[in-house]
Amino acid sequence: MPELPEVESIARRLRPHLLGKTIEEAQLRWTRTLAYPTPGKFKEFIKGKQIREVTRRAKYFILRLTDFSLLIHLRMSGDLLIKEGKIKPEKHDRLILRLRPVESPAGALSNLVFNDTRKFGRVWLTADPEDVLGKLGPEPLSRKFTPEWLHAALQGKRRQLKSLLLDQTFLAGLGNIYADESLHIAKLHPLAVSDSVTAEQAEALHKAVCQVLKEGIRRNGASFDWVYRGGEYHFRVYDRTGKPCSVCGTSIERIIVGQRSTHFCPGCQTLIR
Ligand SMILES: [Zn+2]
Repeated sequence: MPELPEVESIARRLRPHLLGKTIEEAQLRWTRTLAYPTPGKFKEFIKGKQIREVTRRAKYFILRLTDFSLLIHLRMSGDLLIKEGKIKPEKHDRLILRLRPVESPAGALSNLVFNDTRKFGRVWLTADPEDVLGKLGPEPLSRKFTPEWLHAALQGKRRQLKSLLLDQTFLAGLGNIYADESLHIAKLHPLAVSDSVTAEQAEALHKAVCQVLKEGIRRNGASFDWVYRGGEYHFRVYDRTGKPCSVCGTSIERIIVGQRSTHFCPGCQTLIR
């Protein structure tokens, strides 16, 4: 599942191909991909809109249009691709936006294709993105995310660290990979209870979260399953069950926390009760 660095990498890659283009037509090939509004209104509202900005918030990919925003959540298997010219839709293409350069309406045709094998991905077209994004916690690479904020926020909850880090209303953008990686760097056990975390540990966790996300973005995200290729983020604990920890050599263990597989080093990340 793509997390903040993967979505940021996709936005950076697609930006030069999308900025300043006009959406000539939307082809919705799987109705349930569209969360809001109705398919009829979607096609009507999006037609002729210009792409003004290509951005991201948490794990949402965002196209700011003339007077609407198009939000896309890739979920499990969604991918966004640019295809030039006249195209024949592929089996798992759920939404295709036909694009033209604004300055030459008869100019080169291109397409933004949302391909999603498992169909969990969702698309919203809204005049107010806060309708969708309003409940999200702070953006971890923003100024709002500070060691002091994190410590106070952890103190305000009594939850297992791993589950809390995955909660998008607490902190937005982390998923299973970067949560495991952050806890390993910070030497915190995934089952540690949030209000037991000291100011010093919160500072280490803050630093670790920023470090793994920046590293992920710099390496164009992580490559996993068949969709996300090309990322070169190097896993420390994620998906390394039984392999030696790069810090202490102890075998990485895998446990289930809140129904999510969780990887940690029992040598580095001890649980103090
Ligand atoms: Zn270790």
